[in-house]
Amino acid sequence: MNIILLGPPGAGKGTQAQRLVERRGMKQLSTGDMLRAAVRAGTPVGLKAKAVMDAGELVFDEIVSALIGDELDAMPASQGAIFDGYPRTAAQAQALDAILESRGRKLDRVIELDVGEDALVERITGRFTCATCGKGYHDKFERRGGQEFKRRPDDNEQTVRTRMAEYRAKTAPILPIYEARGIVARVDGMAEMDAVTSEIEQVLSAT
Ligand code: ADP
Ligand code: ADP
Repeated sequence: MNIILLGPPGAGKGTQAQRLVERRGMKQLSTGDMLRAAVRAGTPVGLKAKAVMDAGELVFDEIVSALIGDELDAMPASQGAIFDGYPRTAAQAQALDAILESRGRKLDRVIELDVGEDALVERITGRFTCATCGKGYHDKFERRGGQEFKRRPDDNEQTVRTRMAEYRAKTAPILPIYEARGIVARVDGMAEMDAVTSEIEQVLSAT
């Protein structure tokens, strides 16, 4: 099964993708994580992407689509993919169709995490990840003692507002493409994490 988790920054895509990886053995393909790894490694892609990411704007479509294609090529054909934070534009949605088709895969579901923007700013400005394993936490909703945490440089209120605006202008408009195919399931992303997980599980069990 190949699915997209779609939703604005902070909607819970990464959190839920990690849970699906654990439960279903799928692979999480997060273009945000790939880009951050490229920035850390100082690759040509990372050098191009850094300033764009720091500003909360979108990296070029060709760059992220190439990253996704490479990751799919490195996966066993039988392993399902969870697209997390990709596609984010109509051009990326089109590219994904071609990328999947050329690899004999098809898109089974788009799960839209439905959330309110104000709550998201609070979630994101409180987002921490474990420095060792990369697991995501929130300083208000979840606390873990004795672990080393790191924060993302783009998780500040001003950049978050830009990222939200980018989502509204460029990403939300791709939903109708998938709605026309009848593959969108809307899930309440404002519910407790576990409730969101079981709603997603229900959708996938019926897919
Ligand atoms: P995204 O990948 O969509 O940007 P994350 O999964 O990183 O979002 O979640 C953003 C922040 O919100 C994280 O700190 C995470 O721990 C927290 N979070 C995720 N889902 C929920 C939820 N259902 N309720 C409360 N906080 C959540
Ligand atoms: P979030 O978890 O808040 O949704 P991501 O980790 O997915 O954020 O993305 C962080 C940043 O990386 C984005 O603000 C953008 O600059 C860049 N980025 C990630 N995925 C894409 C994509 N599919 N297209 C363009 N830019 C992307």
